Amino acid sequence: MSDCIFCKIAAGEIPSATLYEDDDFRVILDLGPATRGHALILPKQHYANLYEIPDELAAKAIQTAKKVTTVMKDALPCDGYNIVQNNGEAAGQTVFHFHIHLIPRYRDDHAGVSWKPGTLTDEDRDAILEAGKSLRENS
Ligand code: AMP
Ligand code: ZN
Repeated sequence: MSDCIFCKIAAGEIPSATLYEDDDFRVILDLGPATRGHALILPKQHYANLYEIPDELAAKAIQTAKKVTTVMKDALPCDGYNIVQNNGEAAGQTVFHFHIHLIPRYRDDHAGVSWKPGTLTDEDRDAILEAGKSLRENS
């Protein structure tokens, strides 16, 4: 994708603070970090979101998340990690090149990666399980 900023960063055409790189991914520091050490895993190939990325690369992406967070939790150090991956504008995605946020957490950091718990009603439970029935039929 010629006009995609994350394609250019992943390819090294635009400089970035690169924490880790291999044949498939570049892991960079986020320019607007939620907390100190906030990083992004960018595949070198362009896929807009989780629905489009091939299974094998998605699996490698989560392995990369494991590799980086396992080292950085002690290196930073931090007290925890949130792994966040947004798909679609409604979910907060602003750059439409698949990426995984690695967000270090520090006790009392007040970063806003949380939600107010709602209630699972009987009606919602039944409707949602019905909507997802193809998952169980094909498994
Ligand atoms: P999302 O909202 O999930 O699409 O996340 C996009 C993230 O990319 C945000 O956290 C931005 O701060 C970050 N970001 C945008 N442009 C750059 C850039 N040039 N270098 C590093 N991080 C960026
Ligand atoms: Zn791209």
